[in-house]
Amino acid sequence: MDAPAVYEQLVGQSQAVEVLTRAASAAAQMIDGSGPGTSMTHSWLFVGPPGSGRSTAARAFAQALQCQFGGCGTCPDCHTVKVGTHTDVHVVAPEGLSISVKEMREIVRVAAFQPSGRRWQIVIIEDADRLTEGASNALLKAIEEPSPHTVFLLCAPTTHEDDVSVTVRSRCRVVSLGTPPADAVAHVLINRDGIDPEIAQWAALAAQGHIGRAKRLATDPNARKRRQTVLSVPLRLVSMAGCLQAADELVAAAEDEAKQISESLDAPEKEALSQSLGAGGTGKGAGTAARGMAGQIKELERRQKTRATRVQRDSLDRALVDLTGFYRDVLLLQVGAEVALAHEDHREQAAEVADLVSQAWVLRTLDRLVATRTSLEENVKPRVALAALTTALRLPAR
Ligand SMILES: [Zn+2]
Repeated sequence: MDAPAVYEQLVGQSQAVEVLTRAASAAAQMIDGSGPGTSMTHSWLFVGPPGSGRSTAARAFAQALQCQFGGCGTCPDCHTVKVGTHTDVHVVAPEGLSISVKEMREIVRVAAFQPSGRRWQIVIIEDADRLTEGASNALLKAIEEPSPHTVFLLCAPTTHEDDVSVTVRSRCRVVSLGTPPADAVAHVLINRDGIDPEIAQWAALAAQGHIGRAKRLATDPNARKRRQTVLSVPLRLVSMAGCLQAADELVAAAEDEAKQISESLDAPEKEALSQSLGAGGTGKGAGTAARGMAGQIKELERRQKTRATRVQRDSLDRALVDLTGFYRDVLLLQVGAEVALAHEDHREQAAEVADLVSQAWVLRTLDRLVATRTSLEENVKPRVALAALTTALRLPAR
């Protein structure tokens, strides 16, 4: 069976696509009364590592459910779901660090409405692992007793209870996505984005299966420069001073990236908000309006600040993923595995480290990298976490 067109963006996930295709066609039969489809799963949980396409899968499934052709990719339903203007599809994507209970209650309220089309009222929650406890409880109530036309599509890194509460998880049908193979990622970069095959192949490997990251590496010189800085770190960790300096540089690079991204987003948002609030006005009630406006601007600034923190944290996490790939390469060289390295262009450096340390040292290092990523997620100050990491990764004197 050929997969519906909407799943084209979903790279290397044929198993998940099959499950979703079957579910959508059963759902359509149920609505048309044309076949044996009798029940619909109202809550789905899409899990997979970053870049595997969790939210892409959820959106494609939403398209397939709303499309009268099962996900053609071109009809008005498919199109409006894709661009985010479909009246019966609601996307919750936190800009800050978490999804609040207020936000969730509102979305649950809307989700209970009759769909305006003939099909479903769909709620996509892009980062279900960022629900506050209150929001998670509000959601649980909705998925325990869903209205007959409502479908919840949740996305999270794993089914672990740190990401999704056990009770929410138990109500969902899980769709697992894997890390797509480098060849499949390269294929997309070449065919979808028109990227030169040689660069695409390199970027796909370097991004370790993360499609968005692969595209950035292939197209953005700043992203390549940052990666270069990160991968120069391991061999520089030879003295205490060197370790602390490397930690500082990694944090500074993340701060820079966050600043760059924030600056490009913040000012236009603020401008748009003041315009929509109609800055100025002297008539009756202008005082009250001005006070309300100040409140809204303050709220926007608060959200922009949490977003900046998030961007900085994501940027550091990416650096740690790159380093993890590097030390995994070191291990591969030590055991003499004949496979492509994640950072093939840093093979020499990896070989140099491989000569200096034992396999046990590398395994400890990989554990430490995982622990550091976790502690950053738990709000440990980046400078503290990174300094602890780099000093632990100090190389023995040669
Ligand atoms: Zn369609």
